[in-house]
Amino acid sequence: MAAVEMTEPAARTDAGLDYDVIIIGAGISGLYQLLKLRELGLHVKVFETGTGVGGTWYWNRYPGARFDSESWSYGYSFSKELLQEWDWTEHFSPQPETLRYLNYVADKFDLRRDIQFRSRVVAAHFKETTRSWEITLEDGSRHNARFLITAIGPLSTPTMPRIEGVETFKGEAFHTARWPHEPVSFEGKRVAVIGTGATGVQTIQEVAKTVGHLTIFQRTPNWCAPLHNSEIDKETMEGIKKRYDEIFARCKETHACFVHTIDPRRTFDVTPEEREAFFEHLYASPGFGIWQGNFKDILTDRKANAAISDFVARKIRERVKDPAVADKLIPKNHGFGTRRVPLETKYYEVYNQPNVKLVDIKETPIERITPKGIKTSDAEYEFDMIIYATGFDAITGSFHRIDLRGTGGQTLKEAWTGGPKTFVGVQVEGFPNMFMVVGPHTALGNIPRSIEYNVEWVTDLIRHMTERKLTRADPRSEAVEAWTENVRAVGEGSLVNEVDSWMTGVNRNVEGKQVRTLARYSGSAPAYRAWCDAVAAGGYKEIDLS
Ligand code: NAP
Repeated sequence: MAAVEMTEPAARTDAGLDYDVIIIGAGISGLYQLLKLRELGLHVKVFETGTGVGGTWYWNRYPGARFDSESWSYGYSFSKELLQEWDWTEHFSPQPETLRYLNYVADKFDLRRDIQFRSRVVAAHFKETTRSWEITLEDGSRHNARFLITAIGPLSTPTMPRIEGVETFKGEAFHTARWPHEPVSFEGKRVAVIGTGATGVQTIQEVAKTVGHLTIFQRTPNWCAPLHNSEIDKETMEGIKKRYDEIFARCKETHACFVHTIDPRRTFDVTPEEREAFFEHLYASPGFGIWQGNFKDILTDRKANAAISDFVARKIRERVKDPAVADKLIPKNHGFGTRRVPLETKYYEVYNQPNVKLVDIKETPIERITPKGIKTSDAEYEFDMIIYATGFDAITGSFHRIDLRGTGGQTLKEAWTGGPKTFVGVQVEGFPNMFMVVGPHTALGNIPRSIEYNVEWVTDLIRHMTERKLTRADPRSEAVEAWTENVRAVGEGSLVNEVDSWMTGVNRNVEGKQVRTLARYSGSAPAYRAWCDAVAAGGYKEIDLS
């Protein structure tokens, strides 16, 4: 392994505390946060539930899992050496390669020595007298630190469907986010997939390649568009390495940190022919261009949204041979891009295979899972395997499975009744010294870009505090109000916020998540960073520091 790039001052810890900082999670956020805090000379410990690093890419080993972001725009940008050393082999990297990358990062920067694996944090309580956090692990052991950083990811608590009999099935059953570490064969098997979000789509198109018979249980179809993945040869990779500064500069300018940027024209500014040609171009181009690089009004103007929806519907009809099946695959209750667009590779063609069946469970609801398979209102299906691609208790779920308590013993669940309230998505009033990396109300998008910004902002705040011997940071009420109001205001007029999905805080399998909440910041990443930069430049007046 190459040598560590930066020299670290010797670690120190405030008297009486185990660590300066405890980080929960060793995914992309936790790894980088550890590295940055070591640079401050702080004594940092990471607790991670899994047996290895990687977070999302450690857990989501389902068949076909891969980026929908361009690989070379997704990796860490902080180390030129790392950028020059690592070769991506595909424009949209598959999960095993991404996991190898994150392991490489952990080794290169010698991160493992401060990570304790197999360590689920079950409770975290703020202690006012010592201005510290005490965390409890599943094994009952307790550890304390001045600061607590949650690096637990917005999509990391899987949810099983609330269907009667789930536990009675006698065959193989897997949730995609808890996929076994050993290879799973589908050959000759009768397999069911429940769920057709980004995960379900990737799973279905991969399983269909080798399965005996595949049955897809679809509740809500999503608008999918082609990924157009391809391999990266040596020469192309060399070219990418030379352009990294340019690539990351572009990600900094765009709305959601992707390389794709919104087209400044409105849908009906151009002639029908120009519009059709532009949509065709986007549909034929790799990645999220059709969602993130489309006309600027497709997610705010209903007519514009209908135009792109009609275009994609036509594509689905062209690709699926049976018109009745095509019709079932075309969303009727939301427009294109108002939910996360799954990118696909021959997904629609799967439905032309003779060994694939689509069951629309809005027409024939699932009544129960049986020991042999799935019973709907009109049939009983037998399966060897059921795959649950049923998503996550998103954004707030990973917080709520920890007994998180701030001042006066109030729980985070109580503080977030009716939806999260945060200061720039990083802090919660009444939870001093707790910082969230990509928590609710932060910019998400091409997520490592948002993570790097969040981590660096939190690091600067901790540096500011340690240099001044400040030991308590609690955001002021008016600052929390102002940010939460801003999150609401920037989301106004967005068609995304009128549709049920994890992005609007809805998960029908989770108690208390039946109605939409203000779960996510939907403004631009540059605007988010400008707000946070101003807070730092102003000396963190929005935070009560003492
Ligand atoms: P999801 O988008 O929430 O999809 C869950 C699916 O399960 C939906 O089709 C949902 O139907 C269905 N479902 C849930 N409960 C059900 C029930 N009781 N009965 C029947 N169907 C049920 O979750 P996801 O697909 O795991 O994706 C979550 C997010 O992870 C994505 O939006 C994306 O941000 C991220 N992701 C990224 C990548 C990538 O970068 N390539 C890949 C995968 C995931 P309804 O729609 O009707 O609720």
